[in-house]
Amino acid sequence: MSFKKSEKLYQKGLTHLVGAVNSPVRAFASVGGNPLFIKKAKGSKIIDVDGNEYVDLVLSYGPMILGHRHKSVEKAAKKALKNGYSFGASTENEITLAEIVCDAFPGMDKVRFVNSGTEAVLSGIRLARAFTGKDKIIKFSGCYHGHQDALLVAAGSGLATLSLPGSKGVPEGAVKNTLIAEYNNLASVQTHFDKYDDIAGVIIEPVGGNMGVVIPQNNFLKDLKELCKKNGAVLIADEVMTGFRSKFGGAQEVLGVEADITCLGKVIGGGFPVGAYGARNEIMENVAPLGGMYQAGTLSGNPIAMAGGISTLTELKRQNPYEFFDEMGSKIETILLDAAKKYNVDLSVNRFGSMMNPFFTNVKVTNFEQAQTSDTEKFAVFFWEMIKNGVFLPPSQFEAWFLSSALSKKDIKIFEKATNKAMLAVSKM
Ligand SMILES: *Cc1c(COP(=O)(O)O)cnc(C)c1O
Repeated sequence: MSFKKSEKLYQKGLTHLVGAVNSPVRAFASVGGNPLFIKKAKGSKIIDVDGNEYVDLVLSYGPMILGHRHKSVEKAAKKALKNGYSFGASTENEITLAEIVCDAFPGMDKVRFVNSGTEAVLSGIRLARAFTGKDKIIKFSGCYHGHQDALLVAAGSGLATLSLPGSKGVPEGAVKNTLIAEYNNLASVQTHFDKYDDIAGVIIEPVGGNMGVVIPQNNFLKDLKELCKKNGAVLIADEVMTGFRSKFGGAQEVLGVEADITCLGKVIGGGFPVGAYGARNEIMENVAPLGGMYQAGTLSGNPIAMAGGISTLTELKRQNPYEFFDEMGSKIETILLDAAKKYNVDLSVNRFGSMMNPFFTNVKVTNFEQAQTSDTEKFAVFFWEMIKNGVFLPPSQFEAWFLSSALSKKDIKIFEKATNKAMLAVSKM
């Protein structure tokens, strides 16, 4: 397998792009070597510029839930393109997508579309403060909520991979209202409520996906919602990763919890830049032009992106692939655990539907601290063997893997063969 063209583009890219990437998670910082450059993708496969083909478990970090270039999505986007790219005025498609979204999330009467998950969350936080009139926000260590200043502390994968505690360039003032709690530890949240009376809200990834996959234990979300309610704070569900992925109604549907404010991204645009935040009327009425909380966007509700979102969600609802995801996911999980056992490698796998990943540790991972017991050098060896055997994974121990509904039995065979080779290589370290 040759990576010559990727290497050449990487060298060229270094001149005018930072690290030759436009998002640090795409750099191969923790696995070594150079990032791959992609030429195209179709269905469950992605193809690099050297012509190497991979089963894609990155899926653009989540959005491509139907696989790449699904026919109906491509058709809808092309059709929208013909009518113009952006108008600075409302279009019917925005209403259509809003209906689909509010129908899927019972806690959302109204929604506002933005261009990314980061924007969705920073607006959701502003809304929590506008609604409650309070300033402080509790976040969980290991949860990532986009790259806004206020939440860029103890923020999971990207930072963990680069061994950064937080980001430079974030002034102290920007995080002075951010409190950190431990995932799956209600007492660590209670402590903050005991100490402060100006907590506007608690933000959480209802299923952790940015410290590797971490699943809420023993009604953690339900208890968290109750705790928020008791203390006059709102629960903000950052479902940018889990929305439409865990279930059509997100992790909230699976866990039986209704958040006060929900943030969406990734799958909602099916690969086009769409983010959204929404809540019940009483909360959303604080947003301009109805209320005094300002939030705007030149390209928000972009007609091509809306068409991409509508067609993706319509097709997703039609396919209803969540049982299929469970079936495929459990196969992949079994393959990983069997190979680890066979080659005597410490491995712990977490999976929530179509989101999963192995941790190279013998510790059961339920929070960020436990995730960090993973052997990242083992992951690096595993990663490259998987690449060389035709499986594209995120280049970090702390990123979730994603499944698409385009995944086939043949892909699973490829995955199984690659996994056995990779685990053997790890066992020889
Ligand atoms: C990806 C992600 C974000 C940020 O979304 P962007 O579109 O990358 O800005 C926020 N929160 C969670 C949970 C995410 O997974």
